[in-house]
Amino acid sequence: MDHPYRPPTTHAALSGLDTGLLSAVAAGQARLTPAQALEVFHRMPTAELGRWADARCRQVHGEVLRTYVIDRNINYTNVCTARCTFCAFRRDAVDHDAYTLETEELLAKIGELVAIGGTQILMQGGMNPGLPLDWYLELLAAIKSRYPRVHVHAFSPPELIEFVGFFGAPGATLFEKARWVLGKLKAAGMDSLPGGGGEIFAGPVRRKIGLGKCDQEAWLTTMYAAHSLGMFTSASMMFGHIEGYADRIHHMGCVRGWQDKALGWSEAGRHEGTEARRDEGEGVPFGHYKAFISWPFQRDNTPLGRVKDWGSQAGDTGEFPGDVVANLTGDGDAKSHAEFGRRLRTSGTVDYLRTQAVSRLFLDNVYSIGASWVTMGPHVGQTALAFGANDMGSVMMEENVVSAAGTTYCLDEPVLCRLIREAGFLPAQRNNTYDILRVHEGSESPDLAVRDWSEHRLKRLHVERRESAAPLTIGASDR
Ligand code: SF4
Repeated sequence: MDHPYRPPTTHAALSGLDTGLLSAVAAGQARLTPAQALEVFHRMPTAELGRWADARCRQVHGEVLRTYVIDRNINYTNVCTARCTFCAFRRDAVDHDAYTLETEELLAKIGELVAIGGTQILMQGGMNPGLPLDWYLELLAAIKSRYPRVHVHAFSPPELIEFVGFFGAPGATLFEKARWVLGKLKAAGMDSLPGGGGEIFAGPVRRKIGLGKCDQEAWLTTMYAAHSLGMFTSASMMFGHIEGYADRIHHMGCVRGWQDKALGWSEAGRHEGTEARRDEGEGVPFGHYKAFISWPFQRDNTPLGRVKDWGSQAGDTGEFPGDVVANLTGDGDAKSHAEFGRRLRTSGTVDYLRTQAVSRLFLDNVYSIGASWVTMGPHVGQTALAFGANDMGSVMMEENVVSAAGTTYCLDEPVLCRLIREAGFLPAQRNNTYDILRVHEGSESPDLAVRDWSEHRLKRLHVERRESAAPLTIGASDR
């Protein structure tokens, strides 16, 4: 019989730099407190931080395999009611380059994915009030009818929360309403819920950058509703903009706390089995977060990207405004620094690797930490495998959201396998639940089968082209 889940013990009196504590964290026998994680973030040298994160990753994932998945990002609509200041993708319904894909177009994309051995689609869009529930149900049914074996990893908590309003979902609480919508979508063919729209949970930051988007509680509650239906989900974090470092730790702490809950551990400190949660999950085994992926904000073509960099203006002295406002409980006072939200601190390679490494050490209850080569480039993604990441994410056939913000990296399967192999691991293709589908050892491996790398050209990344960008605006309070 499986033992009930119990989180690792904390030792709050110790320094986060205590090697005994870190050895226990790497072994899965101790948990970092938020204050210790912040201390690690601020004070541990980068190479040392990488070594601890790598040790923890090897404990969870072993020494041999590092994974990737073949999926396709399909952005079914760019019409969106929200106005996130970091977004270059959204359009109003009346814009000339607004689009919603036809079912046949979408199915053709999945056909191309299946042709290269793909196993799942990541299907997300803007929050489009013009699409009724039946549109989604019929789309999901059409996908499952034509491609029953393709895993549909679809939508995001912000989309789901809008669906609750658009579709008039019944229920007394957001949990019940979101669960009703998710139940309908699941019955029609949705398999799991990706962690889009996480950004930074802390209210002061979220209210500045995610105009019209759900708050932390709603995001996490929607994920919990998905878990209650047995779905596996992921969590994400977009950092390197106006937030403070403590906001990143708070964000990870929210994921960790709700993951404890999904795994059956209550805040009162006892395990609650399926029976105790029957009212929520009706006896269905709970799902949980399978993965955490973080990436730095990409500024090109976005209103937020036009905000001045910290240090570029006379008077930009002292602590970064985001650090003045941020705290580990996510409820800092936005008024405590006059320039909060008006200055950026973007994230480079080292900050990215440090953030990812801290996530590996802090998120002791999340199985997979994904590298973000899409935003950071192939070789930083490869380096991330030495900073706690076990997964290189997906072969990229199509991407419309971050590419709209200037990022256009594109990798096919041979290149992805080569990057993993050059990092000292065997590349292995996985599915959505991280089961290994193929291990690439022999000469037939996608990378080893390439006879002439000088001739190997990447296929062009598919982007839903629009003739020109719509005007981008930013609220006065954010400038
Ligand atoms: S990030 Fe998503 S929710 Fe926000 S404006 Fe863009 S499409 Fe809409």
